[in-house]
Amino acid sequence: MKRYDCIIVGSGPAGLEAAVNLSIRGKSFLLFGNESLSIKLETAPRIDNYLGLPGISGRELQQRYLEHLDDMNIQLQTDQVNMVYPMGDFFSVAAGKHTYEASTIILATGTAPAKLLPGEERLLGRGVGYCATCDAPLYRGKTVAVVGWSDEAVLEANFVAELAGTVYYLPVRKSAQTLREGIHVLAGPPTEILGDQKVEALKTKTETIPVDGVFLLRESIAPSSLVPGIQVENGFIVVDSDMQTNLPGCFAAGDCTGKPHQLMRAAGQGQTAALSATTYLDRKAADQ
Ligand SMILES: Cc1cc2nc3c(=O)[nH]c(=O)nc-3n(C[C@H](O)[C@H](O)[C@H](O)COP(=O)(O)OP(=O)(O)OC[C@H]3O[C@@H](n4cnc5c(N)ncnc54)[C@H](O)[C@@H]3O)c2cc1C
Repeated sequence: MKRYDCIIVGSGPAGLEAAVNLSIRGKSFLLFGNESLSIKLETAPRIDNYLGLPGISGRELQQRYLEHLDDMNIQLQTDQVNMVYPMGDFFSVAAGKHTYEASTIILATGTAPAKLLPGEERLLGRGVGYCATCDAPLYRGKTVAVVGWSDEAVLEANFVAELAGTVYYLPVRKSAQTLREGIHVLAGPPTEILGDQKVEALKTKTETIPVDGVFLLRESIAPSSLVPGIQVENGFIVVDSDMQTNLPGCFAAGDCTGKPHQLMRAAGQGQTAALSATTYLDRKAADQ
């Protein structure tokens, strides 16, 4: 399997700036994110603190970012990264239905969910999943709940409905996408996932529905669920001034490292993370 120099997880300003700098430094990398690049950016009506571009709207900046990627021939992979496994001197990354390897990782995932649902962490991999397209075949003919925070969640719920017996959809955010017929929409919101050894039911504010599986399709996954062993404090990834996390070769940048949540801070940290990853790779190569 090809081993990339770096895999970047996240397509907001932090991840994109990391990609631009890795590209300039001639490193091989994959950039994972989504087509809108950053929902936060897309929804920012007017930005006054972006140096050199006063008054720019989030959508205009998004367009400039897309042009920049295009100009530098940087491809965006639109699969969600579900897991990053530290393997010693490299990382194994599960995204969509595929697995990739990289010598370094840059986490630029934006803010993580404020808090996990009760039962989520305990039942992760035992009925709780973050990737419906990957795990839907496990639920052929069974009952599944999909909790959706994004447009992609609706598309994933539609895919699950092709295989599962019964699908419940709990929309946390409105979506422009249309659910296919036969999916039962619940008002939600979800309050707890129940089960002893595996998922048995999903509790909402008003009812408890027996289910075999629950897919939680958020925009981003909590860092502690995404990368086993990563040091997190108050929900944010702990980094030093080089954007190095507690895991050698794993760097983080942007909102996922703490406040203030601002565009230029995110981009600056993305650049530092890319340069630190480059130094790490070059030192490693020199030692061999
Ligand atoms: C309405 C609004 C207005 C704002 N206005 C301003 C402003 O005027 N000035 C300012 O400085 N800041 C502003 N901000 C804040 C700014 O948008 C954020 O600080 C900035 O976008 C953070 O960048 P980031 O790269 O860290 O993360 P994000 O922009 O959140 O990008 C992270 C991206 O990575 C993707 N991702 C996450 N996990 C995964 C995964 N596992 N696999 C694949 N992709 C993943 C996410 O879907 C997301 O697209 C505003 C925010 C909002 C919501």
